[in-house]
Amino acid sequence: MDNQTFSRCPLCGSPETTFYSYCTDFAVSKEQFMLLRCTSCGLVFTDNAPDEQHMASYDRLKHRLKLGDDPEGLTDRLFYRVRKSMLPRKAGIVERCAYRSEGSLLNYGAKTGWFSNYMEKKGWKVTSVENYHEERLFSLEMFHHRMIDVADVDNLKPESFDVVTLWHVFEHIANPHKLLDTFHSLLRPGGILLIACPNIRSADALHYGPYWAAYNVPRHRWHFDAMSINRLVSAHGFTLMHHERLPYDSFYISILSEKQMYHKLAFLRGMAFGFRSWMESAVHRGRSSSLVYVFRKKNPLQYDQTKKEEED
Ligand SMILES: [Zn+2]
Repeated sequence: MDNQTFSRCPLCGSPETTFYSYCTDFAVSKEQFMLLRCTSCGLVFTDNAPDEQHMASYDRLKHRLKLGDDPEGLTDRLFYRVRKSMLPRKAGIVERCAYRSEGSLLNYGAKTGWFSNYMEKKGWKVTSVENYHEERLFSLEMFHHRMIDVADVDNLKPESFDVVTLWHVFEHIANPHKLLDTFHSLLRPGGILLIACPNIRSADALHYGPYWAAYNVPRHRWHFDAMSINRLVSAHGFTLMHHERLPYDSFYISILSEKQMYHKLAFLRGMAFGFRSWMESAVHRGRSSSLVYVFRKKNPLQYDQTKKEEED
């Protein structure tokens, strides 16, 4: 297996990296992975993560987003309620940031298609990209919404989308540089790129340390904070407009983290700390369990100017 190992920071190319933490794959393999941090740009990343071909064995169906609509157990039921309540909120973020109530949307890593279906019903023209056959089939049967495979993205028409969304997907991507260039080409001038991902500066990340469920190694290759993701995405012709919190993730992540620590009353303890983290993020957004980053595509002149300044 060709694992993803780095002698240099995959973001900025600096050879100076330092040990950040050991984390265990609690969900599937029980293997331990090392996280490294670039001392130059601050990116934290999973060392020795499996390549794309072998990641599937760490990403089994039952551990991926649950299919169907029949949750079992308290945690899954909470997940379903949160997902449902988040759909209008996510749609609101898209429409507010794009200044439009309909248009063309690329939902990359669409999973079982709940968000795609919601946006389609609101009048958006939605193209969904999903790596896994089971999820694509689910979406077709449940919502009659046909998704495309990752390999088909190259056939999409340049400058044909108003918005690109990645809801908890970007941290899984093996080659974020290439994908960001693709999004830059697919978005219309002034188009919006929305990336939601876990925040390693969150109150729950600091509280649970290596047991924080959103490290989710090796499936999560990159562990961002506002500074490192801004540096990465900005280098590909985007400007960070603002970031906002996804408040309810703190509850789900805290419960999972408590379970990983084999604490008794994990659900109640997780709800209690999730509430504390949620309160903290209401005061200090940068402490939110997850953040949604809103980037706008720079116009070509701006982009060329930035590149020229960097080269100088
Ligand atoms: Zn770096």
